Amino acid sequence: MHVATHAMVFARTSGEDGDAKGITCFIVPADAPGVKIEEWLWTFNMPTDHPRVSFTDVWLPEDSYWGEVDRGLGLGQSFVHQNRIRQAASSLGAAVYCIEESVKYARARKPFGKPLSDNQAIQWPLVELATQTEMLRLLIRKTAWQMDRMDHKAVERTLSDKVSMCNYWANRLVCEAADRAMQIHGGIGYSRHKPFEHIYRHHRRYRITEGAEEIQMRKVAAFLFGYMGPRKAEFAKAPAA
Ligand SMILES: Cc1cc2nc3c(=O)[nH]c(=O)nc-3n(C[C@H](O)[C@H](O)[C@H](O)COP(=O)(O)OP(=O)(O)OC[C@H]3O[C@@H](n4cnc5c(N)ncnc54)[C@H](O)[C@@H]3O)c2cc1C
Repeated sequence: MHVATHAMVFARTSGEDGDAKGITCFIVPADAPGVKIEEWLWTFNMPTDHPRVSFTDVWLPEDSYWGEVDRGLGLGQSFVHQNRIRQAASSLGAAVYCIEESVKYARARKPFGKPLSDNQAIQWPLVELATQTEMLRLLIRKTAWQMDRMDHKAVERTLSDKVSMCNYWANRLVCEAADRAMQIHGGIGYSRHKPFEHIYRHHRRYRITEGAEEIQMRKVAAFLFGYMGPRKAEFAKAPAA
């Protein structure tokens, strides 16, 4: 908000709480009378440009909305997919960095004359993290490749669960990798002379924003159990038990 000229405000214009239909995206000038920045929030990642904003009796011209009235959710979902896979790739890269730096440090650091890397207690957690990064990289690349070959609506209908899988797993993984890197680097790892605490703080927010991890898992569950997605029709045909 410290640089925004306009805010995209998603507000309910019809229906009930929880209905997918009935949300409209309004384009609100940031300096419109009634738009107020109440406070700048301190977050885990230090002071940020994220404020709490209030809207009181804000007047807008009739055509100041984006897309269609009552169809704002689809609009939002068309860009969350792009950002969810982007977050996943970014978290994966940061996780790999934490692992690689830890390997280098563990080989170089020799407390009591013996490299840290000789210890399986140091090796194995990194092995598990490295294994997960390899698997995740493949899923992210495959999903991104598929996304490039379909429009937003098809992504939402057929691929949304895979985007969510990439997102929540990568965002968790980077937090684990940063935490492990801090541990392997000992006291210096906890300091700001190494980037791991910053990586942790930065990527920890991805487990909340752009759909918290529970929301990603909810999407995966909906596809898995056939409440949404390609299996919906299949489950609808199945005879009741
Ligand atoms: C640093 C930062 C930047 C942000 N930037 C933006 C931005 O640019 N644009 C924007 O629109 N928003 C932004 N947000 C807001 C963000 O999108 C929300 O905080 C996020 O979607 C979670 O919503 P909430 O805070 O209302 O939590 P709630 O919806 O109240 O959820 C609280 C907790 O309950 C869990 N939960 C909710 N429903 C369920 C369920 N059915 N089952 C299980 N668990 C559930 C959630 O996963 C979460 O862990 C930002 C937030 C932060 C912290």
